[in-house]
Amino acid sequence: MVLIATSCFRFPEITTPVLGAPPLLNQEGSYLEAARCYSDVRASEDRNRLLACGTRASRLVPVTPKTNLRHDRSTVSYADHPNSHGLSFALNRGPLLRPRVSHCRWLLFLLLWLVPCTTEAAQPIHYLVDLSAPETHRVQVTVKIPEASAGTEIQLPAWNCLYQIRDFVKSVEDLKGECDGQTAELDREDLNTWRGPNRSCSDLAFHYSVNANTDGPFDSMLDSGHSFLNLAMILFYLPRERKRPVRVKFQLPAGWKLATFVEGESHEFQATDYDALVDSPVEAGHFEEFSYTQDFTPAGTSAAEMKHATIRLIIDADRADYSSDRILNSIQRITAEETNLMQDLPFNRYTFILHFPREGGSTGGMEHRDGTAIAIPASAIRENKGYLESVVAHEFFHAWNVKRIRPQSLEPVDYINGNDTRDLWLCEGVTSTYAQLALLRADLIDRDTFYARVAGAMQVLQNHNARRFQSVEMAGREAWLEKYSDYSRSDRSISYYNKGELLGYLLDLGIRHASDNQAGLDDVMRRLNQDFARRGRFYTLADLSSMIAQLAPTFDAKQFLQDYVRGTQELDYSTYLEYAGLHLATHVAELPVQGFSASRNSGGLLQVDSVETGSDAQRAGLQPGDVLMMADGDMLHGGSNPTLPLWRPGQAVEFQIAREGQTRVLKFRIGVNQQITMQIEEDPQAGPSQVQVREGWLKGITNSSPGKR
Ligand SMILES: [Zn+2]
Repeated sequence: MVLIATSCFRFPEITTPVLGAPPLLNQEGSYLEAARCYSDVRASEDRNRLLACGTRASRLVPVTPKTNLRHDRSTVSYADHPNSHGLSFALNRGPLLRPRVSHCRWLLFLLLWLVPCTTEAAQPIHYLVDLSAPETHRVQVTVKIPEASAGTEIQLPAWNCLYQIRDFVKSVEDLKGECDGQTAELDREDLNTWRGPNRSCSDLAFHYSVNANTDGPFDSMLDSGHSFLNLAMILFYLPRERKRPVRVKFQLPAGWKLATFVEGESHEFQATDYDALVDSPVEAGHFEEFSYTQDFTPAGTSAAEMKHATIRLIIDADRADYSSDRILNSIQRITAEETNLMQDLPFNRYTFILHFPREGGSTGGMEHRDGTAIAIPASAIRENKGYLESVVAHEFFHAWNVKRIRPQSLEPVDYINGNDTRDLWLCEGVTSTYAQLALLRADLIDRDTFYARVAGAMQVLQNHNARRFQSVEMAGREAWLEKYSDYSRSDRSISYYNKGELLGYLLDLGIRHASDNQAGLDDVMRRLNQDFARRGRFYTLADLSSMIAQLAPTFDAKQFLQDYVRGTQELDYSTYLEYAGLHLATHVAELPVQGFSASRNSGGLLQVDSVETGSDAQRAGLQPGDVLMMADGDMLHGGSNPTLPLWRPGQAVEFQIAREGQTRVLKFRIGVNQQITMQIEEDPQAGPSQVQVREGWLKGITNSSPGKR
């Protein structure tokens, strides 16, 4: 994802490059699930049907007590890959379960082999989503669960899209239950979970509404203009049956169209399970639609084996704010470049949902498996600052990196507590690396702009003091704190987007240098795609390390990861840039830092809000709440737009302040902040091997694949 700007979030991926380039846009009860057959039957929670098929699978009763109010019951039970829909022996990995499993495991497996399953698959859960009263902002929802067992639970995610616990249940209103047409009492199990009647129902239904009134690619909105839905905010799942197939039907206001990423006809869609469904946002309204075909011929095959995918653009914006020709041209070049880079076209259809709001709402991009939702301010689109291209290049690369090339740490998705992941530097940061490389290789930016953006990213990291103690791995684990504005201070946290992007460049240069440009990071990404994504496997950091070791044996990937990913060692930009015959020019400017902040109080006076720890102002005794009266004999005015004089770095200033009815004189020095600016220059004296690495890096070629361009 890329979050450009909201009222309360930080700007993790915005960098301010030099040379005026545009910013880089940047789980009680648990059950044993033994086989797919059992998984299907389990969906019905019907013991007789289980027994009918029960020779194929064994069910154990819940083994863990209810202890955690905020517990995603689904995560313990699902050990199989969301993409693997074949026979899967998804034995529960929970340590509490293992002793119980062992004594029946052999019998279980024997029966699995000997007895055919005669039970039909679980019936889908049906969702009816009614958008027909847009002026109310209320989405009316009915969830219908056929053959529901006694005590069926429903649960709403606390997060999706952003790595932030956002408690989606806050927007749910008037939840009611019905069992075979009769009103059913519901028990509130915890903040996010309700429990149905203590009897089985042929048809169990839940009715409720969701207040959808926030625009942006991470949220949900229903108004008279359009609707955009993050379905995890709208639809409950069955925590014990998250793998059950689902169907969703939409009711729309007259004249509205609808687009989503899952397959279906008219306004009715189906997905293999809940996870797949909520990975598909919904756009409804009066949007414009464009499409083109993206072709790809796998290496070593004939034109007859060419693959095709439909790329759709769904644009909901004011027609005066954008040129569809320009947008189509840019996006076509990006999808072609990244398809070529990854040597893969892993979808039949990919959809860009684009919004260009004139005001309000969060902006940025949110990746999904078969599409993305992007919002860019209309002013930025009109001024053609290249934001859209940067976000598109980043989000489209996510079709591989994170949506398919997926770390084990993000699976299964824990919709309640969030996932503890150390890999966001690779998922997000390296995606930003490839966004910039793709723009360069597709000629959407020139070399100078690319160098300026790389240098700008270096600048951002070097101007974050938190880089000295927060590793990029830890920054990813602490992503869940990004909803707090205080966390984004440069002396508290770094951005895994920013440092991860830089690590992508350094890894590429390091591998190319060590392999005499026989391999690069492109090969690592392609191999992760081939060996993990396409085989339905999740990777770990150890997998990445051994893959790099195979491609470039003399490059010490383990040490690189230890120093720069798990550790906080300063990045050695100069050495890596030198591999490519590039020189890093660094300029340090001294800027004044007051050491305190002040604002106009209710009485119109200038009052100190905070005093920086360790500053001269603090040592002199300045305190929050002090009223600033005079500085060096000049009156300080609160006024309607209070400003303080521009003092020089290190300048001694005498303040007259008022505190508890008394005036005092405090004298202290204005602090000094070293602002680092960087510039990357090509070394005219670079040798042939350096030039080879440079050209290989910039053009995406290696000595073993010189003919790519
Ligand atoms: Zn991203």
